[in-house]
Amino acid sequence: MTGTLIVAGLGPGDEALITPEVTVALAEATDVVGYIPYVARIAKREGLTLHATDNRVELERATHALEMAASGRKVVVVSSGDPGVFAMAAAVFEAMERAPYLSRVDVHILPGITAMLAAAAKIGAPLGHDFCAINLSDNLKPWAIVERRLRLAAQADFAMAFYNPRSASRPHQFTQTLDILREECGPERIILFARAVTTPQEQIRATTLGEARPEMADMRTVVLLGNASTRSIGRYVYTPRHAG
Ligand code: SAH
Repeated sequence: MTGTLIVAGLGPGDEALITPEVTVALAEATDVVGYIPYVARIAKREGLTLHATDNRVELERATHALEMAASGRKVVVVSSGDPGVFAMAAAVFEAMERAPYLSRVDVHILPGITAMLAAAAKIGAPLGHDFCAINLSDNLKPWAIVERRLRLAAQADFAMAFYNPRSASRPHQFTQTLDILREECGPERIILFARAVTTPQEQIRATTLGEARPEMADMRTVVLLGNASTRSIGRYVYTPRHAG
C-alpha cells in the first residue's frame, strides 16, 4: 500500500496567506478531507471530491485519507493555520501507527501560518522573545495538566499563546485560566485577544490581566499573554529580544 498524502495548512483566513505550494497541491487534488469549516474554504471544481467531517472524528478522518491515498487518489488533508499546530498532521501519524498496512504511504506536511503568528504580526511583536503555545481544550488531556503547564510557564516567564481558549461547553475553564495567570503574573501583565485574525470579522483587543474578562475570548480567538517585559509603544505591543 503506497501512495502520497498531503497534509496542508490553509493559514488563518486570508487567501493571500496560503502558501503557493498549498495552492498547487489543492489544484491537483482529487480529494480534500477536513473539518467542515476548513473544507468550506476550498473552491468546488470538476474532479474534486470534498469530504467534510465533524471535529470529533480526527482519527477516522485521518485513516480514511490514508486509505484513499493508498488506493492512488491525490488526497489533501486540510487544517486551518499550520497542520502541525493542534491539528491534523499528528492525527495522520497516529492513524498510521494504529494501521501498519498504511505505513508505506508517503506523507508530505505543507506548513501554514499559524494563528498565534498571524495575530502577533497584527499587534507588533508580542512573541519577540521566548514563548510557548498551550491548547486550553481539555478534550484530549486532563485539566490538571493544563493548570500545571500554565503555572510553570508563567513562573519561567514565557510569553504564551492560548489556542481553543473558551467554548460553550467549558466556559468556567477560561475563567480559571485567567485566575491562575493573575495569581502568577499580577494584574498589570499585558494580554491580547485576537479574534478571526485576517478575516472580515477580525477583532483585536489589548488589555491587562486585571481588566481581562472571560467573555473577551471564544473559539475563534487566540489569546496572547506577554512576559514580564512586554510593553506598548504607541498602538503596538512588543516583547524585547533580551531578558534578565
Ligand atoms: N492549526 C490551527 C489551530 C487549530 S486549533 C493553527 O495553526 O492556527 C483552533 C484554534 O486556533 C481556535 O480555537 C483559535 O484559538 C485559533 N485560531 C485559528 N484561526 C484563528 C484566527 N483566524 N484568528 C484567531 N484565532 C484563530
